[in-house]
Amino acid sequence: MTRLSKIVVAVGTRPEAVKLAPVVHALRREPWARVTVLATAQHRELLDQILQFFGIEADIDLDLMRPGQSLADLTSRMIDSLDGAFALVEPDLVIGQGATTTVPAAGLCSFYRRVPFAHVEAGLRTHDRNSPFPEEMNRVLVGRLADLHFAPTARARGNLLDEGVAPSSIEVTGNTVIDALVWATPRVDRTRFAPKEGRRTILVTAHRRESFGPPLDDVCNAVLEIVTAREDVEVVFPVHPNPNVRGTVDRVLSKHPRIHLMAPLDYADFVAAMASCHLVLTDSGGVQEEAPALGKPVLVLRDNTERPEGIDAGTAKLVGTDRKRIVEQTLRLLDDERVYAAMSQAVNPYGDGRAAARITTRIRRFLGVQTPAGSPERNLVPTH
Ligand code: UDP
Repeated sequence: MTRLSKIVVAVGTRPEAVKLAPVVHALRREPWARVTVLATAQHRELLDQILQFFGIEADIDLDLMRPGQSLADLTSRMIDSLDGAFALVEPDLVIGQGATTTVPAAGLCSFYRRVPFAHVEAGLRTHDRNSPFPEEMNRVLVGRLADLHFAPTARARGNLLDEGVAPSSIEVTGNTVIDALVWATPRVDRTRFAPKEGRRTILVTAHRRESFGPPLDDVCNAVLEIVTAREDVEVVFPVHPNPNVRGTVDRVLSKHPRIHLMAPLDYADFVAAMASCHLVLTDSGGVQEEAPALGKPVLVLRDNTERPEGIDAGTAKLVGTDRKRIVEQTLRLLDDERVYAAMSQAVNPYGDGRAAARITTRIRRFLGVQTPAGSPERNLVPTH
């Protein structure tokens, strides 16, 4: 019998769990792969919610989250623990996704052990090292460390080429976030967040470090102004548990009867909320990709984005954290049907739901796994 290829999938936070779940599902269907899901759990409860929904249990759980952890403290504990885990598993390949601390830490530990590292969602750049912080630098670092780069779009591939990454190590796959959405949609109760007759819902999320303090205050005040200005508008706002977010949001928004603040939703409920809303205000990366796939316009509460594809396609618009601009642009979308139609009908540029299949095929080839003669190349689908 041929030897199984041992693949570690490292997952640290909620968006990584969403975007790696399709990869874990796809690899687990492969007879040649033995997958170890390794949770660093740099965010504990948000990660668990998502893994559970996708029916994935961590094989190794490093449980690294500590209250008030600094980035340096987290990184040092992570490197230590990851190295121990890699020593135990002896992987043939390690996979990481996105731009949190888990990703460069896993990339570096893999490099030291001479284990190839594959980066999912490679090549996203704002070209501003401080924004988003620390994600932009994490992405740049892992761009140097990775052996395989799964770029979600042609533009992401271009960013990697500009930094000297070898073309042969890059595969354009689409974003696995769309695979996750395709998997989740039939499992979701869409009625849970359906607005009352004659009402329209705005879905809001905000959690970026750069927005803590006055910018988040401005965002919240803008939300309050919008709801006050339009009586048919309700706001659904799942609030990130970070005290820097929670404190401001509660202080400014907790008293309005049409603003519904709630704990972070599990993924099924969040997808239901996206599917039922009229538009989205967010600083989240993943939500910028998901909402357009559901035909929902996105106003991005940031000054720049590593996801310009949505802006170019017309599904998203950068509005920053300036109160006046957020109010203006939101009211425009609420009041002008043509502006709304143009954004909601634009084509989602982030993928076709087959990214994980492309990633699996490429990994199999990279590891030199032969498919038995006559067996179908079931994951081999053309990139778009
Ligand atoms: N999400 C969720 N529940 C929520 C808010 C978001 O499941 O209450 C999901 C969302 O669908 C997306 C991911 O979490 O897939 C985005 O995570 P986050 O905004 O924390 O991180 P980012 O994408 O900005 O890195």
